[in-house]
Amino acid sequence: SEASLLENDVLIPKMPPFDYSPPPYTGPSADEILQKRKQYLSPSMFYLYKKPLNIVDGKMQYLFDENGRRYLDAFGGIATVSCGHCHPDVVQAIVQQTNRLQHSTILYLNHAIAEFGEALASKLPGDLKVVFFTNSGTEANELAMMIARLYTGCHDIISLRNAYHGNAAGTMGATAQCNWKFNVIQSGVHHALNPDPYRGVFDSDGEKYAKDVQDLIDFGTSGHVAGFISEAIQGVGGIIELAPGYLPAVYSSIKKAGGLCIADEVQAGFARLGTHFWGFEAHGVVPDIVTMAKGIGNGIPLGAVVTTPEIAEVLTRRNYFNTFGGNPVCTAAGLAVLNVIEREKLQENAHVVGSYLKQRLISLKDKYEIIGDVRGRGLMLGVELVTDRQLKTPAKVEILNVMDQMKDMGVLVGKGGFYGNVFRITPPLCFTKEDADFFADVMDYTMSKM
Ligand code: PLP
Repeated sequence: SEASLLENDVLIPKMPPFDYSPPPYTGPSADEILQKRKQYLSPSMFYLYKKPLNIVDGKMQYLFDENGRRYLDAFGGIATVSCGHCHPDVVQAIVQQTNRLQHSTILYLNHAIAEFGEALASKLPGDLKVVFFTNSGTEANELAMMIARLYTGCHDIISLRNAYHGNAAGTMGATAQCNWKFNVIQSGVHHALNPDPYRGVFDSDGEKYAKDVQDLIDFGTSGHVAGFISEAIQGVGGIIELAPGYLPAVYSSIKKAGGLCIADEVQAGFARLGTHFWGFEAHGVVPDIVTMAKGIGNGIPLGAVVTTPEIAEVLTRRNYFNTFGGNPVCTAAGLAVLNVIEREKLQENAHVVGSYLKQRLISLKDKYEIIGDVRGRGLMLGVELVTDRQLKTPAKVEILNVMDQMKDMGVLVGKGGFYGNVFRITPPLCFTKEDADFFADVMDYTMSKM
């Protein structure tokens, strides 16, 4: 691309210019923070890089370290920063609401929660009009599974192998990767074959995978189920696009078994896929319950469950409440996020820039044997690294080296998948074509040096 410098006969990709310098940082150094984290915070913490980065500022698609060094953020705080880091409209909404009222509880009326509830409901099809606010994706999925169980009077839930739906008792049951599961009681969930076109047993045959769900219903339950939960594209699982035709066939089986279909839109929702605002729309299905978090608040802790009035009625049988769900600062931020996505046409941008970047990554696959697969949609893309294309041997070590070198060149990217060998590219939706070129140039350069 144009954004390259010639140095020692090698084209060194150059980051696109950006008109912002963060204020000087005067806090503790990375080493001091690391020391404190080791001493005082949970030992379960892990880091993306061998030497963890100290990130102190963020502006749109960029992050800045303690020395003011700029990085292109192609991970987006794990698919969470939708509008861009510290987007001025979101910051303004938060500051205004904070100055006026930070918290009251939903036991009183407040305009922020009502306005955002209305705006959110308007983004969903059909009768999906009743919103419950939560603080995270885990909590949203816990609530969705409980609603499905209460509504149907059944306990059995079907989820997909390789799924990630959260880490509390119920959702850890639905999560289906040993990497993310502890050995505590997680009852009533059956895990269906993953309709993974790259590694799955039936390749891209959605109908065959769907038959496995029908088998689970027939041979693993009473014939009646509470529901089915799935992402539209598995995020933590390594950007797995579900085989075509899978979800419509499964939704039909679940409905026949009296269950509710839950769409986990925590990563794929909120315009990230570009072609559609919600991931389920890309599969041509309409769920009974939709859960969301991450992109809904641009990084502010916020989640939601949306369902129909008929289904929502089950929660009136007892008191159902949480202290922070619908907090006015969070919902004011959520409303600002929705407005920015619309005004700045971020869904269209995700489509245009995401399609362009995907093409560039596919070209890299033609060039480098180590790239086994390029997949995803919009600005939710995956690049799977393998040491042997035939055997699909996960390139677990190589990916760490590529990541580290990309970081040294100013690009941050996530990784995941069961084997940890998939790049997860989920930047803020304001990512530009120049950013896409820089990202692909840096990956190209790094791989050319391996
Ligand atoms: N669902 C999906 C698809 C996720 O990717 C995640 C988190 O990564 C969750 C649920 C859980 O969300 P949270 O970490 O906000 O609890």
